[in-house]
Amino acid sequence: MYSNFTKSKLLSEHSTFGIGGAARYFIEVKEISELQKVLHFCFSEKLPFFVLGKGSNCLFSDDGFDGLVILNKIDFCHEIENHGIYVGAGFSFSLLGMQTARRGLSGLEFAAGIPATVGGAIFMNAGAQGSDTQSVLSEVEFVDEKGELHLLKKEELEFSYRFSAFQKMKGAIASARFCLSPQEGARKKQLELLDYRIRTQPYHEKTAGCVFRNPVGASAGLLIDNSGLKGVHCGLAKVSEMHANFLVNTGTCTSKDMLELIQLVQKKVKEQHGYDLEPEIRVIECQR
Ligand SMILES: Cc1cc2nc3c(=O)[nH]c(=O)nc-3n(C[C@H](O)[C@H](O)[C@H](O)COP(=O)(O)OP(=O)(O)OC[C@H]3O[C@@H](n4cnc5c(N)ncnc54)[C@H](O)[C@@H]3O)c2cc1C
Repeated sequence: MYSNFTKSKLLSEHSTFGIGGAARYFIEVKEISELQKVLHFCFSEKLPFFVLGKGSNCLFSDDGFDGLVILNKIDFCHEIENHGIYVGAGFSFSLLGMQTARRGLSGLEFAAGIPATVGGAIFMNAGAQGSDTQSVLSEVEFVDEKGELHLLKKEELEFSYRFSAFQKMKGAIASARFCLSPQEGARKKQLELLDYRIRTQPYHEKTAGCVFRNPVGASAGLLIDNSGLKGVHCGLAKVSEMHANFLVNTGTCTSKDMLELIQLVQKKVKEQHGYDLEPEIRVIECQR
C-alpha cells in the first residue's frame, strides 16, 4: 500500500455539513506530480477514489467511503500576463476572490465567501449574483484516472448552470488559468457581495450552501419557504429559518437525517407547487 495513506480518517472533519463516517484511506496531495502518481496507483490497484476540495458541497455517508479520499492541497497562485491568474486547484476560491478584487481585478468578486477550493468551484461551476466560475476561466490542467496530465480549454468543458464536463469525467482538476479585467470598483463590489451573503445566509452554521438547484424560472428557496418548511426538521437536520434552501446540521446530525429531510422537502414542494427539486449537493455513497 502507498506509504503516505492515512487509515480510517473521519470525513465529518472535511465536510462543512460536519457529517460523514471514515474514509478507508486518505491522502493530502500538494503537488501536481504527486496527484498523477496517486491516481495512477488507484487505477492500477483498482482502488475507488474520491477527490475532495473543502467539502462544502458534499454529503458523505454515515458509513464513510470505502476507498481513497484525495484531499487537494495544490495551492500555488501566480499572477500571469494580461491580468491572468494561474492557480492550483486546492487554492481557496474565497481568498482568490478577495485577493484579485483587492488588486483591482474584476471577474471573481462573487467568489469571496464561497468556502470552496478552485477545483471544486470549477467542477460545480459555482456562482452567485449573476456571475459564475466559467465566465472568467480560460483553461484547466486535468489529471485523468491513469495519471496523465491534459490541458483543456474552457470551450471543451460544457459549462452550464452548476454543471461542468468534469462531473462526467474520472480524474482530478489540478490547476486553472483565469483571465480577469482591471476595474476600479472591483473591491467595493466584492465587499458588498460578501456583506449581502453574510446578511442573508446562515453563514456560520453547518451547511453545504444551497441544497437544491433552482428549477428553470423559479427559486428553490422561495418554493421551500412558500411550502411552510422553514424550521422543519428530521432528527438534527433542519431547514434554515434564514434561507430555506440551506439545510442545517444543528448538532451531530447523521446523513440519514439529512437525506430524510431532503426527501421530505422534495415531497412537500412537489405536492404544493408541482416542482421536482433536484439536489445541487453531491451525495457520496460509501462504495461498499
Ligand atoms: C456557506 C456556504 C455558501 C455557499 N455559497 C455558494 C454560492 O454562493 N454559490 C455556489 O455555487 N455554491 C455555494 N456553496 C456550495 C459550494 O461551496 C460549492 O459547490 C463549491 O464549488 C464546492 O467546492 P469544494 O472545493 O468545497 O468542493 P467539494 O465539496 O470538496 O467537492 C464537490 C464536488 O467537486 C469535486 N471536486 C472537488 N475538487 C475537485 C478537483 N480538484 N478535481 C475534480 N473534482 C473535484 C468533488 O469530487 C465533488 O464531487 C456554498 C457552500 C457553503 C457551505
